[in-house]
Amino acid sequence: MAEETILEATERTSGREALRKNVQAAIALAGAVRSTLGPSGLDKLLVDDQGRTLVTNDGVTVLETAKVEHPVAKMIISASSTQDKVARDGTTTTVVICAEMLRNAWQLVRQGVHPATIARGYAQAQKFALESLESLSIKATDSQIQSAVETSLAGKLDKAMEVHLSEISLKAGSTILTDGIADATRVKIIKQTGGSMLDTTLITGLALAKSKIHPEMKERGGPGKILILDGGIETRQTSFESKLNITSAGMLDAFRKAETKSVLDQVENLVNIGCDLLVCKDGVDDDARQALATHGILTYRRVEKRDLDLLSRACGANLVPDAQRASVEDLGDFIQTREELRGGVNHWILDAEHTGATLIARGSTEGVLEEVERCFADGLGVACQLLEEPILLPGAGATQVALARRLRRYAESVPGREQMAIEAWADALESIPRALAANAGYDGIDSLLKLTAAHNSEGDFVGLDLVDGEPKDTISRGILEPLSITRQAISGATEAAISILRIDDVLWAQMDAQIPDEVQEKLQGFGAE
Ligand code: ADP
Ligand code: MG
Repeated sequence: MAEETILEATERTSGREALRKNVQAAIALAGAVRSTLGPSGLDKLLVDDQGRTLVTNDGVTVLETAKVEHPVAKMIISASSTQDKVARDGTTTTVVICAEMLRNAWQLVRQGVHPATIARGYAQAQKFALESLESLSIKATDSQIQSAVETSLAGKLDKAMEVHLSEISLKAGSTILTDGIADATRVKIIKQTGGSMLDTTLITGLALAKSKIHPEMKERGGPGKILILDGGIETRQTSFESKLNITSAGMLDAFRKAETKSVLDQVENLVNIGCDLLVCKDGVDDDARQALATHGILTYRRVEKRDLDLLSRACGANLVPDAQRASVEDLGDFIQTREELRGGVNHWILDAEHTGATLIARGSTEGVLEEVERCFADGLGVACQLLEEPILLPGAGATQVALARRLRRYAESVPGREQMAIEAWADALESIPRALAANAGYDGIDSLLKLTAAHNSEGDFVGLDLVDGEPKDTISRGILEPLSITRQAISGATEAAISILRIDDVLWAQMDAQIPDEVQEKLQGFGAE
């Protein structure tokens, strides 16, 4: 069969035309987020198809919310999402650098360089840059770690909130650091509308907006045993419709007694296995409530499944479906439990060996709360990476300029046409200081030239001061970024650019597929009357 017949229902672009269109898509995509880059970046107002609005400064949020159809744009968005998952920051940077790499590659293709040669040169440049990062990095002190978390939040919130959230993120990170690994899933977030963002607090331990089920139950200042019930202590509810034939006055009474006994038996089993604290997913009957209080078993009910899982992990307890069948092995350990009023709401707080921390996010509206939550998650992600690997690079464009200068020297030693690709790759990195300057109202090219000259005379750690547009030392100003973020951004952007460069044929399945005849008829009839 001829090729044309197979591809009948397909629109096709090949060769240079395919690359040109793909590069165009990448540039358009970067254009949508470039203005959010850096502390002077502006916000975007996003409106979804239901009319819900979201104001954000976060590149990946903009891209993930926008309904983008172009396959190449989707590839770049996916690189940005990976950056978000792996490094929690540097998402806009990834997109801007990737698009610039493609724009520069297109210029080279027009001069007659083959895309495969460019791809090879880009891979060489990436390898060299990643190796050079080490010579640019510094070992972080505690206060530098704090500054780096602040840098990652720069421009997302107001200054006071950035500092507050950085402190909290770092505290949360230190709480969950065990054996050099910080597991961010051990931090729970509770959103509470009301108050100001600055009222957002962190509690060490697992907090739940819950109160004990009986006022006579005592909180335990010391350690004890916890049982987690994936159910409740209730008289059994039949799931089918049942009918009870009462034939004598004593029968109903006997039936109730049997039910109460079953509930009390469950409590008795808990007493026997030595349970001090009971947490249930479902309800607890009145009879059981009283009995639990009498036996000194502190109880919380109607706890969400997600929280039960956190509790189970924190205390090393099993999730048990039925109190009657619970055994000593199912119990977990806790260190202490208490209740505290936070923002007018009672919270139950549990400390155990692996409980981690809870953020109580405050804000005037749902929208504000969501932004606080997103920023905290980013801050926490950055804090965790730094606690695991406390290595920093200078921000404010310094790293990119330093790398570009090294790369240009390296390119001179490469004989083939790859040399041109390595230079193009270095130019692409410099799109970051240019965009930072432009977003702050300075000329991108002039600022880049000034910065490059300053690197020549003052060294690698000079970045742009966006207040006056002048090159200044980044270390003394605390504008620092984790090595892990830049490393991931460079790899993600280059890999996406290379895979896009390798495409020389785009086959579009016909988008507006035929509407079946019967549907067509109905559509025609629709609204005719
Ligand atoms: P991304 O999504 O890529 O993280 P951001 O909007 O967070 O984008 O901007 C990050 C960039 O802003 C980094 O290059 C960082 O070095 C720079 N930056 C952050 N704070 C400052 C500052 N105070 N002065 C200059 N540049 C800064
Ligand atoms: Mg950032």
